[in-house]
Formats: sequence, structure tokens, C-alpha cells
Amino acid sequence: MEGIKCRGCGRLYVPPMMTCISCGSNEFDRVEFEGRGDIVTYTVIHVPPREYKNEAPYTVAIIELEEGAKVTGRVKGDPEKLAIGKSVKLLSEGKYYLFKLITN
Ligand SMILES: [Zn+2]
Repeated sequence: MEGIKCRGCGRLYVPPMMTCISCGSNEFDRVEFEGRGDIVTYTVIHVPPREYKNEAPYTVAIIELEEGAKVTGRVKGDPEKLAIGKSVKLLSEGKYYLFKLITN
């Protein structure tokens, strides 16, 4: 998955931003992320925005990637099986990032 690294302070962003929140720089280098990380927090959406009306319920999580960037995406599967700290990997990207649990 594609992200960026701030040339000013090194902060990582996925998806790319126009301006760095930390230092205000607008110069970035493109970086490629593996798409693996851990769930920081998550919520189950029962009342979605209109464009995702037929997809609810679904889980939206904040995932901290191994490289250190935080990204918001969906996690596929039964919300009952999710927990903070569980590992996920990227399954697909398009309108949104879709992750799945890494099962050991
Ligand atoms: Zn910066």
C-alpha cells in the first residue's frame, strides 16, 4: 500500500496528505508499506453512510502498521473475533483499505 514520508520530520501517512500535521511541510517521499499491522481500536458500523448502505454491519478499525503509520480501514469477518492488539494484513485497497485477521 502506498504512503508518504514527510521530508521535514519523517512522519508517515497513509493515504497521502497534502501537508504534514506535525511540522507543516508539504514535501514528501513516496513509500511502500507491507500492509501488516495491529488493531489500535475498532468499531462496528450499523448505520453507514448512504454509499455503503447495503454493506452494514461492517467493522472500521484504526490499524498501526509495522512501519509506524496509522491507517483507517475495514476489517473483514466476524467482529466478535476482533480485539485490540490483534494482527491484520491488507487484503485489498480501492474505495477503502480492507484488512483481514492474521490467524496463527
Ligand atoms: Zn512533517
